[in-house]
Amino acid sequence: MPVLDEKLHDVYDEVLRRNPGELEFHQAVHEVLGSLGPVVAKHPEYADAQIIERLCEPERQIIFRVPWLDDAGRVQINRGMRVEFNSALGPFKGGLRFHPSVYLGIVKFLGFEQIFKNSLTGMPIGGGKGGSDFDPKGRSDAEIMRFCQSFMTELYRHIGEYTDVPAGDIGVGGREIGYLFGQYKRITNRYESGILTGKGLTWGGSQVRTEATGYGTVFFVDEMLRTRGESFDGKRVVVSGSGNVALYAIEKVHQLGGTVVACSDSSGYVVDGKGIDLDLLKEVKEVRRGRVADYAEARGGDARVAADGSIWNVPCDIALPCATQNELNGSDAAALAGNGCLAVGEGANMPATPDAVEVFAEAGVLFGPGKAANAGGVATSALEMQQNASRDSWTFEYTENRLNDIMRGIHQRCLETAEEYGSPGNYVAGANIAGFTRVADAMLALGVI
Ligand code: NDP
Repeated sequence: MPVLDEKLHDVYDEVLRRNPGELEFHQAVHEVLGSLGPVVAKHPEYADAQIIERLCEPERQIIFRVPWLDDAGRVQINRGMRVEFNSALGPFKGGLRFHPSVYLGIVKFLGFEQIFKNSLTGMPIGGGKGGSDFDPKGRSDAEIMRFCQSFMTELYRHIGEYTDVPAGDIGVGGREIGYLFGQYKRITNRYESGILTGKGLTWGGSQVRTEATGYGTVFFVDEMLRTRGESFDGKRVVVSGSGNVALYAIEKVHQLGGTVVACSDSSGYVVDGKGIDLDLLKEVKEVRRGRVADYAEARGGDARVAADGSIWNVPCDIALPCATQNELNGSDAAALAGNGCLAVGEGANMPATPDAVEVFAEAGVLFGPGKAANAGGVATSALEMQQNASRDSWTFEYTENRLNDIMRGIHQRCLETAEEYGSPGNYVAGANIAGFTRVADAMLALGVI
């Protein structure tokens, strides 16, 4: 864990006191505070206005009951949440996660991260996150629809184009966004495209939104590689996960001449030395909603599945963790560095533990933190909001170019800020400080609210 500046100890202690048991939230706050020492030294006005203390306390937290009927006619109860963290830069913006592990500590960690990520994009969006402990695995389409309808029946009163604009995250893809949007439209009798992003292309969605997080992560890592005169061409890449972010990271790596040799899901990982067959993987995961073992079986040949051990032991030049938080620990990081890994880009949110980040720094492995590397998803959501507001729709090529420019801009901002605050080449410091200062300046301007 980075050592906190003296002035920030009290802030962190207060976060621990106020949010007991929310370990992921504590971790996310500590990670950001770990970078802010030089900022508070240079800008006493932030401390005077208690900007950091205010940033650590969400503007609003909403928790609600989500009752629904399963296919057997039994009543099921889940908990729904939306944490509206900070709206200094624009409406709250951030995804919804449906996963049994979801509780307030996870939603708050994700919402907190989202503030700085959204700020880093340079776009007018605040930070928020939501979700439910609902487990979509094994549920029929009809059950997913009833759950989404019940969730939106409560959430609808809190969201809006100028208030709060949710999107997808783990367990929430195009199907779920469709059911959520349908229920919003029905309840309000208004076709307000701007209340959700990640919509389908025929009903208000944007080209490239589906691909954006994975593509953006690869664009960001490509920029990091360029600083060392390297590229994806000819590189072996390991991508964890096989969901939305992972699939499109794999697609872009292959387009740039790299070979993805392993991917995973929560049941294990598959090693495919000839390179993952993406069409087959998409068919297994998105159409059949199967497991990576089904992919290995259908692929045949040398593809093999491993149910134990770590995907990070598979030798590679570049690693892209794209599954979930804390999925890559210190010993995984040591294994990657030992195998000569050049660069790591976080497609997921906080997948590398603090000790893993330290190992990468000590070993000189390029490390792109999620706040910067996976910001392409939310940036393209903001492009979707622009298109909705102007009732326009852009081409794939134009939108992808905008995404590429945004990711290169974020990379540049991270490098320049890290240099300015005395940590040249440190993307963690650059992302945290650049994300923080833009929000902090807006909060100062808006007064004590
Ligand atoms: P998906 O639900 O589409 O895919 C998640 C993938 O990660 C699945 O392969 C899933 O496997 C695996 N996974 C989930 N939980 C675990 C776990 N506990 N252990 C091992 N594997 C797990 O989600 P996304 O691809 O949308 O999200 C992945 C990550 O990227 C998350 O951290 C998310 O917050 C982040 N992110 C997503 C954005 C987006 O636009 N979607 C934007 C920015 C960040 P299984 O199917 O077995 O559960």
